[in-house]
Amino acid sequence: MKVNIQSLQNGVNAFEFDAPVEELLFDSQGLNVNSVAVKSLVDKGEQNIVVSSHIKACVEMTCDSCLEAFDGRVEDSFTILYASEKESLGDDEMTRLLASGTHSIDLTEGVRESMLLSLPMRYKCSDACKGLCDQCGADLNKTACGCTQERVDPRWQGLEKLFGGESGNG
Ligand SMILES: [Zn+2]
Ligand SMILES: [Zn+2]
Repeated sequence: MKVNIQSLQNGVNAFEFDAPVEELLFDSQGLNVNSVAVKSLVDKGEQNIVVSSHIKACVEMTCDSCLEAFDGRVEDSFTILYASEKESLGDDEMTRLLASGTHSIDLTEGVRESMLLSLPMRYKCSDACKGLCDQCGADLNKTACGCTQERVDPRWQGLEKLFGGESGNG
């Protein structure tokens, strides 16, 4: 995922590409990534290059509530400043030194980091997901198992035992 900067005109250059998913090494994270679309604006100046990228990824996720697999979307933006002089580098993590004679800028690492940082803490297939029934385990998005309705009031349960015992003895 390299942008050739030598052939670039000064000013803003727009790039759009699909990131090669295998290069991003998400397998090691246990992530099943289907696609990552990247749009970058590369602003080339005399000394510095500013690369602003927006990523849109499609990731196979498993819902933490209902345990169904679903296609999750991940979007993020990040900007990296490439400076040709050390003095221009801030404390910011998003700055890199651009060694003289550098032909290209590799966006792979930035895209990878940005994706990992923008993954949700909990996966949910939809905001309306009802999850699984905590009693019978039924997927409440698909069926109404009726457990909560049929749950017997513990006070009645005691009475049932009493009556059940009587009829059993008789
Ligand atoms: Zn769900
Ligand atoms: Zn149930």
